[in-house]
Amino acid sequence: MVIKKNIDSLKAELPGRCRLIAVSKTQPVSLIRQAYDAGQRLFGENKAQEMAAKQKELPADVEWHMIGHLQTNKVKYIAPFVALIHSVDSEKLLQEINKQALKNNRKIKCLLQVYIAQEETKFGWSIDEIRALLKSDFTTTYPAVEIVGLMGMATFTTDEARIRNEFGSLKHLFDTLQQNELPANVSMMELSMGMSADYKIALQQGSTLIRIGTAIFGERQSQRA
Ligand SMILES: *Cc1c(COP(=O)(O)O)cnc(C)c1O
Repeated sequence: MVIKKNIDSLKAELPGRCRLIAVSKTQPVSLIRQAYDAGQRLFGENKAQEMAAKQKELPADVEWHMIGHLQTNKVKYIAPFVALIHSVDSEKLLQEINKQALKNNRKIKCLLQVYIAQEETKFGWSIDEIRALLKSDFTTTYPAVEIVGLMGMATFTTDEARIRNEFGSLKHLFDTLQQNELPANVSMMELSMGMSADYKIALQQGSTLIRIGTAIFGERQSQRA
């Protein structure tokens, strides 16, 4: 059972309150079930409809994490059950999440995705934009949204110093915001950073949620996202 072995050894590496998200995008329900049977409960997907389809097939105590870029017209598919949306990258998306949360009579927890990499393909806010967003009217504008932290992706590179720097800048923003006065529905509890290639650095830099696909399930067949 290589999946169980991978999960067990990753979990053994996690410091204190850091949690492991098994990124199951493109993986069949049968493999997700193997991870579930190994005790894994947090799963990450990057496509709303794929997540909604898998959610129906798996036990109700799975925590579903949306980690990929989310189009506003897809929020409705996951709004009833999603545990945490990591990839909130625009006000338009915040508006839609708020609307769908109200419709489902729940609050939806989110992370703000911060642009820390120097690559042009990454989504997210700049550090200055985050500060501007978190003004006092945030709570009245998005009453059904609960921001619980930040998410970031480092540049895809073998340059470890650069990755360390990028994660470090996100951790610094996280710590600074934690010390500031924040809107009522905003708190800095979770810092989502680290994937298969760079999670060790992310852990050293204070990650509380690592998102691991390949190092659990092996190489994905189709998409590279
Ligand atoms: C696919 C993906 C991951 C997992 O990547 P691996 O390299 O397979 O661990 C983590 N985060 C995001 C946002 C992803 O899209």
